[in-house]
Amino acid sequence: MYATEVRQRALALLERGSSLRSVSLATRINRSTLREWRDHPEKARAASPRECPRCAEHPTLPEPAADYAYLLGLYLGDGCISAGGDGSKAVWRLRILCCDAWPGLIEECVRAMRAVRPASKVLTQQKQGCTEVTSYSKHWPCLFPQHGPGKKHTRKLELAPWQQVIVDHQPGHFARGLFHSDGYRGMNPVRRKSPDGERRYEYPRYLFTNESSDILRFCGQALDRLGVAWRLARPDVISVARRDAVARLDEFVGPKY
Ligand SMILES: [Zn+2]
Repeated sequence: MYATEVRQRALALLERGSSLRSVSLATRINRSTLREWRDHPEKARAASPRECPRCAEHPTLPEPAADYAYLLGLYLGDGCISAGGDGSKAVWRLRILCCDAWPGLIEECVRAMRAVRPASKVLTQQKQGCTEVTSYSKHWPCLFPQHGPGKKHTRKLELAPWQQVIVDHQPGHFARGLFHSDGYRGMNPVRRKSPDGERRYEYPRYLFTNESSDILRFCGQALDRLGVAWRLARPDVISVARRDAVARLDEFVGPKY
């Protein structure tokens, strides 16, 4: 497997019309491999599972984009990155706490972590009322530059421009991650006085709670993009309660998972 930069350079030369022979001489890649790349450039562009799309010489977007957007939502909602191992290899540990209230979330979190960093092992550990999903990689801080000292809500958070591109294209997966980690969908009971006594009814609504006003802003922007009406129920709580808005968000999050 050749490094991304080597592959990209060879591909650029081939696309400019250089012969297999001259590219082979320039890059020391054998001609049959170059022929394969010339005929199937998508094979040359695919990153190897160990490579990081962000610290490559020519950074690309993490893939698959939908899994990345979901994982970003989970990470911002309830994830953390800390130094892993003995520190000598500069390995980082990504941890996401999956509350047992969303059955199936654990599997989806494991699957998304594996998809984004295929070479890194994913471990799960049962804790009181929740399961911790963990993966070690040197590159978690590259993929989640929101990492920094202190808790997320005590820091100013911005999405990197490349993250914004992904979130703008995948607002549903991003919102799904946020609501799976820090959200809630439940029935809101309402009592109303009526001429023939008291009427009780309930309706479904979503709440997203986070102490970081920046994360609330990211959530609100994703909901806007999905066409889901929302409001701040409290300074740290986003509420989605209108019937059509709940129905729309159900397409991406859903009542039971
Ligand atoms: Zn990296």
